Amino acid sequence: MITAYITHPDQPRHYMGSEHPESPQRLEAIRARLLRSGTLQQTMQSEAVEASEAQLRRVHSEAHLRTLERCAPEHGIIPLDGDTLMTPDSLRIARLAAGAAIKGVDRVYRHQADNAFCAMRPPGHHAEAATAMGFCFYNNIAVAAAHARSEHGARRVAILDFDVHQCNGTIDIFQNDPGVLICTSFQYPFYPWRYLDCRAPNVVNTPLPAGTEGPAFRRAIEASWLPALHDFQPDLVLVSAGFDAHREDPLAELCLGDEDFYWVSRLAIDIAERYAECRLVSVLEGGYTGDALGRSTEAHLKALLGLPFD
Ligand SMILES: [Zn+2]
Repeated sequence: MITAYITHPDQPRHYMGSEHPESPQRLEAIRARLLRSGTLQQTMQSEAVEASEAQLRRVHSEAHLRTLERCAPEHGIIPLDGDTLMTPDSLRIARLAAGAAIKGVDRVYRHQADNAFCAMRPPGHHAEAATAMGFCFYNNIAVAAAHARSEHGARRVAILDFDVHQCNGTIDIFQNDPGVLICTSFQYPFYPWRYLDCRAPNVVNTPLPAGTEGPAFRRAIEASWLPALHDFQPDLVLVSAGFDAHREDPLAELCLGDEDFYWVSRLAIDIAERYAECRLVSVLEGGYTGDALGRSTEAHLKALLGLPFD
C-alpha cells in the first residue's frame, strides 16, 4: 500500500500557551515515534497547502469565516471560547490543516496513493458550520468530504470518527444528508454536550461509558458501524482519527490500547477495499499524551500501510 503522509513544518506557529493540551508537541511526538520505528520512512511525505476560501465555504457559513478573521489578533493570544484560542498565525495553520485533508483526497482520487494520513493540527471535528469550538476552527474532515463530492464525484462518503469526543461539528454540517454516513464512537455522557442524542438517519452514534476497554469497544463498533457501512457501501472512507480514547490519555476515561486503534483502522481499510477501491483519507483529531499518541498513530499508520501490528 502507498500511504501519503501530509503535514506542514509551520504547525508550531499555532500555539495556545504552555498549559494547553492541544500543543505543537503533539505532532513532534508523533514524528519522533514514527521516525524511530522507521514507519515514517515508508510513507510518501508531502507538505500541506492552505485550503481556499471557496473550499472552506462548502461547509462553513460566510459569517463564520468573517468572524474568525475579525477575531484574529495582531499579537498575543485571544480566546474564542474557554478552550479555543487564537494567535496571529492560527488561521493560516488551520487553513493548512483543512488543506492537508483536501490534498489527501486529491492523492487517492488521482491514484498517487492508496490512502493518506494528515498529521496536522488544529483538529476539526468540533467545528460546526457557524461555530468554532473544542480547539477546532475549520472542520477538516467535512471540508475533505465536500471537496471529494464537488471535485471527484464522490456520491457516498463514510466518515468514521473514533475520537473520544463525539463529532458534533461533522454532524452539524452533514446531518440528514443522504450522501454522507457518520459513524462516531465516544465517551458518554461527555463533551461536547451537543448532538449526543442526535437521531438523524445518517448518523450512527456509539456511546460508550467511562472505563470501556478494548473488547467492549470492538463489540460495539461491530454491532453498530458494520451493518450501516455494508448497507451504505461508501465510495470514499474518511477517518477522523482521534487517539484520546487511549487509556493513558489525560482528557477522558475510555481505556483503549494501541492494538485497538490498529483494529479499528483495519476495519476502516477493509470497508475501503471492499467498496471504495481502497480510497481512505485519515485526519488527526485528538490525542493528548505524547507517548501514547505516538504509539497509537504508529499503529494506525501500520494498518494504512498494510503492515502487521508488530
Ligand atoms: Zn477528542
